Amino acid sequence: MSEDDLKIYFEKFRDLILKTNAGAAIDKIYYCPHHPDANDERYRALCECRKPRPGMLLTAAREYEIDLKASYMIGDRMSDITAGSLAGCRTIHFLSGMHAQKAIISDFKPDKEIRPDYTINGLCELRSIIE
Ligand SMILES: [Zn+2]
Repeated sequence: MSEDDLKIYFEKFRDLILKTNAGAAIDKIYYCPHHPDANDERYRALCECRKPRPGMLLTAAREYEIDLKASYMIGDRMSDITAGSLAGCRTIHFLSGMHAQKAIISDFKPDKEIRPDYTINGLCELRSIIE
């Protein structure tokens, strides 16, 4: 996906969230355009923002004064869980997500074994975790 297509996707996502009228808001969307093996050399980099590294979460926490210890990282990949755990968040592994069964392909291996704090099979289960 090109970076321009990604921005269009994010705009549609933001509109969809606003239309749900459930009180959710999106202040900013972060993404990592980098990959160590990217064909386009503009994006070829080993960076701190690519999950499972926690760089994006740490940047968001700095920019928006987010208390990561009081925050949840929800994801369907173990790279999401690893990034969240390394940033100090509580983590929720969403097993029904599209990437839930895929293994992590990454050069980055954390020093400690990381497991999600919670595991859910559907988003409706979030209510029992997040009040
Ligand atoms: Zn990056």
